[in-house]
Amino acid sequence: MRRSLAPAIVALSLALAGCASTKSAPVASAPPTAPPRLIVAIAVDQFSADLFAEYRNHFTAGLARLQQGAVFPSGYQSHAATETCPGHSTLLTGAHPSRTGIIANNWFDPGLTRADKKVYCAEDERDPASTSGNPVVSAVHLKVPTLGERMKAVWPTSRNVAVSAKDRAVIMMGGHFIDEAYWWKNGAFVTLAGQALAPAVTIENTVLTMRIKRGEAGYAVPAWCAAREREVKAGPASVGTGHFAMEPGKEPQFRVSPRMDAATADLAIGLTDAMNLGRSAAPDILSVSFSATDYVGHATGTEGVEMCIQLAELDRSIGRLLDHLDLRGIDYAVMLSADHGGLDLPERLAAQAVPQATRADRALLAGALAKAVSQQTGIATPDPLIYADGPFGDYYLSHRLSSVQKAQVLAALVPMLKAHPQVAAVFTATELAEAPLPVGSPQDWSLKDRARASFDPVRSGDLVVLLDRAVVPITDPSPGYVATHGSAWDYDRRVPILFWRKGVPGLEQPAPVETVDIAPTLIAMLGLPVPEGAYDGRCLDIDGSAANSCEGPK
Ligand SMILES: [Zn+2]
Repeated sequence: MRRSLAPAIVALSLALAGCASTKSAPVASAPPTAPPRLIVAIAVDQFSADLFAEYRNHFTAGLARLQQGAVFPSGYQSHAATETCPGHSTLLTGAHPSRTGIIANNWFDPGLTRADKKVYCAEDERDPASTSGNPVVSAVHLKVPTLGERMKAVWPTSRNVAVSAKDRAVIMMGGHFIDEAYWWKNGAFVTLAGQALAPAVTIENTVLTMRIKRGEAGYAVPAWCAAREREVKAGPASVGTGHFAMEPGKEPQFRVSPRMDAATADLAIGLTDAMNLGRSAAPDILSVSFSATDYVGHATGTEGVEMCIQLAELDRSIGRLLDHLDLRGIDYAVMLSADHGGLDLPERLAAQAVPQATRADRALLAGALAKAVSQQTGIATPDPLIYADGPFGDYYLSHRLSSVQKAQVLAALVPMLKAHPQVAAVFTATELAEAPLPVGSPQDWSLKDRARASFDPVRSGDLVVLLDRAVVPITDPSPGYVATHGSAWDYDRRVPILFWRKGVPGLEQPAPVETVDIAPTLIAMLGLPVPEGAYDGRCLDIDGSAANSCEGPK
């Protein structure tokens, strides 16, 4: 690939000069008649429909512009396991996790020969150098092609580029064949094994290393955020009053702040210029997953001054990216959504009209359950009897059990879980395997339907446990980790879905739609052939006028 340093340096100097994006004015122009030359697919990690509703009127930059397009405020990540990897896997494949194979961030294979029985969604565990905690990043577990791969199949010169702070976001949006893939690791952007860093990325890494070493002051608090500044204690953690000051050398204070998203936007801008995205014979796709909203949500919850500052800055970072594409004269279309929603920390929820909010009971952790089952049945194994990635979700039984023992363990475990006051539902793998794939509106799906859409017969657990509403599955909060997502409830399932393209009349459609509708919608916009039955979703007509975008380019 031909790479030029100059545009990257220009983009970076603009970014470092603190070039703020200006408010985007509505642009009156003729409706486009040809497919866009660049698809910009944006994921905002943990951007719930609730956060979008709370903040949408305050946005003035990128997120204001996107609201002039097609706005679906009630999009659904319809499945039960509302985590980053499954959520990103639905965005550009049109498929639920039951079809993408990405059932969770981590699953277990108790038969795995390596000591680490946990499998990370974006690793190749067959590589001896890979562990779930330090993975050899790979798309081997993704069972379906992404939009970028479908574009390449039709237009071999089409470029598929994906950037994020998170490797799993890059892999699940980009897929198996990514031209340039970057994520953040140990204080720098890195890429796939065997690939060299683009010069634009090397330059950005140098600048970021210097900034982290030097430290930075906190952010100014927008006036409309001030009312959210109130201290809340969660165990040893204190949240609600942070402004993201970065002490010299403290890389996590860079990552868990709006700086991470600004750096991700800079990377997207630098690659757009260096690769001339959107300006060659075939349409290209640039996937950008902004991770800081999720990092901030986990560290400080969703309703403090921190999230308010974060979203105001995210708006500016997205605006800067879009303004740059305008400046380059690229004909592009934007899609923005999220991998899952989120919930505030129970300590603040309980003080703000949700008194039932609480933390999951330690008795639901795999070790505690295994002890209780062993006492009841007399069955024990030298390895753990039960594996799970937290106090909910998929639970796996030891492969050392005979089929008779397995039945005995399940006979003890299932009633024990069902009797727990925090448990909403328990499903066995057999029950889910026999359940039909859900149809109809995702807001009406039963808990079993939601669990079915997350089920894979090989990767899913022997049991799936869903907790009650407002039971936060962090048993013990700590500084940096007080709130989370992952439940089967709508605060974790509902996300905004926005589409914008210059000249296309906007619309607002509050009816429920799904993130699996995104890929068929973009496919129609591009005029790509749609393989029969390839999707769980449907095309959304995102043209607010009488024209129908699902009929493809004219
Ligand atoms: Zn996420």
